[in-house]
Amino acid sequence: MTIRSTNPTTGEPIRTFEPLSDTALEARLQCAADTFRSWRAVPFAARARLMHEAARILEERKQEYARLMTLEMGKLIGAAVQEVEKSARGCRFYAEHAERFLADEPVETDATRTFVRYQPLGPVLAVMPWNFPFWQVFRFAAPALMAGNVALLKHASNVPQCALAIEDLFRRAGFPEGAFQTLLLGPERVPRLVDDPRVAAVTLTGSVGAGSSVAAAAGRAIKKSVLELGGSDPFIVMPSADLDRTVAIAVQARTINNGQSCIAAKRFIVHRRIAGEFERRFAERMRALRVGDPMDPATELGPLATEEVREGLDRQVRRTVEAGARLVVGGGRLERPGFFYAPTVLADVPRGTPAYEDELFGPVASLFPARDIEHALEIANDTGFGLGASLWSEDPRERAIFIDRIEAGLAFVNGMVASDPRAPFGGVKRSGFGRELGPHGIREFVNVKTVAVYETAGGSGDRAGDARGAGASATE
Ligand code: NAP
Repeated sequence: MTIRSTNPTTGEPIRTFEPLSDTALEARLQCAADTFRSWRAVPFAARARLMHEAARILEERKQEYARLMTLEMGKLIGAAVQEVEKSARGCRFYAEHAERFLADEPVETDATRTFVRYQPLGPVLAVMPWNFPFWQVFRFAAPALMAGNVALLKHASNVPQCALAIEDLFRRAGFPEGAFQTLLLGPERVPRLVDDPRVAAVTLTGSVGAGSSVAAAAGRAIKKSVLELGGSDPFIVMPSADLDRTVAIAVQARTINNGQSCIAAKRFIVHRRIAGEFERRFAERMRALRVGDPMDPATELGPLATEEVREGLDRQVRRTVEAGARLVVGGGRLERPGFFYAPTVLADVPRGTPAYEDELFGPVASLFPARDIEHALEIANDTGFGLGASLWSEDPRERAIFIDRIEAGLAFVNGMVASDPRAPFGGVKRSGFGRELGPHGIREFVNVKTVAVYETAGGSGDRAGDARGAGASATE
């Protein structure tokens, strides 16, 4: 398979790259395994110095990196700059806190001294998507490297230049050869990589199909995996919400990253008393979005990342409309070069249609009326996904019910769902398992080692025999 950079704004090819040969891949795997042996022993303070340097380089070269993202996948240039800045914040967060998050933890048992020690696992393979080409990689790599693991990145095939730029960045920051390597290869080679004895664990961010395939490979090889998959986030609006503000944020929440975010709001569930007014104002704002060149700071909606994404989205919209949904706005490709899709609003979406059951990865919103908060939650939870969710309400009872009953990994009240290096991020149901970010994220790829030490009256009781004799129970 050829690894190809294409400009989604024009549809023009930019560059192609040959995938790694088997021999080159073998050398990189061995380099990762060799580097791990020394990297795991590097003290936190020294790792942190390098991670701070990575953050500094991100800041220094943010315009260059941002342009690369916009060129390869069409993200708005302002958002691309923010993404590089956020990646730098992620690096600094783990540089500052990794040692504390992974410090020995005392535990009370029958032993003289028991504690938990967190230790790295080895080379971790990261299979990453194109939609946040920098942030997705840094939010994996910063905790993984700070924990003493080494990283192997298989990035999405349409962002090879971003993938190589990130490898170059870690090298410039002074990380040893083999601490972070980009592997240019197609998805068909991932299962064999997961199976390789030198790969200790795997994390995938991407679609449900890719996640299921990688998790199956990890399961066969008995290796730890983390999956960050798709979402169909509900955005619930109750009558007490400030409608002007909520509608403005609703448009932003649906069209963020040109509609291609796992935590973009996709289903707008609105109390029936305000549903008509919400639809009118929301549709008006969606229709008025300035669509165009993502390099132009005045643009509000850029292209989709690839022709395949656009084709898939168009098919989902057509099937949903054919099955009886009402097209309020948009609904089709825009006739211009590049992979543009019209901002689209659907209403009266029947169950069993793609807009009801699946993730729509583009600027397409679905509206659902609800009788009350209980009914809104019934609709919100009637999905296979469970990533993010937001409620817009001033009512304490509605808020309490939402927080308690929503089936999601992230529940936001009167705020747009977003990731933050300081707080755990991840989903339930088909949105995946495991967590990234926060203290939880850095503990995914570590050996949680329980250490119990028994001191005997007369000597150094650290010997295993003493320990078992003194405290092991007959039932383990
Ligand atoms: P994708 O097609 O699943 O690709 C993601 C990565 O998986 C790419 O590197 C891809 O490689 C690889 N891949 C695809 N099929 C594979 C397979 N069968 N075995 C092994 N690897 C495979 O997803 P995408 O279109 O890039 O990204 C969009 C999806 O990611 C959406 O569903 C979105 O919701 C989800 N996402 C989730 C999160 C989260 O944190 N939960 C964040 C961002 C995105 P190739 O590019 O070479 O095919």
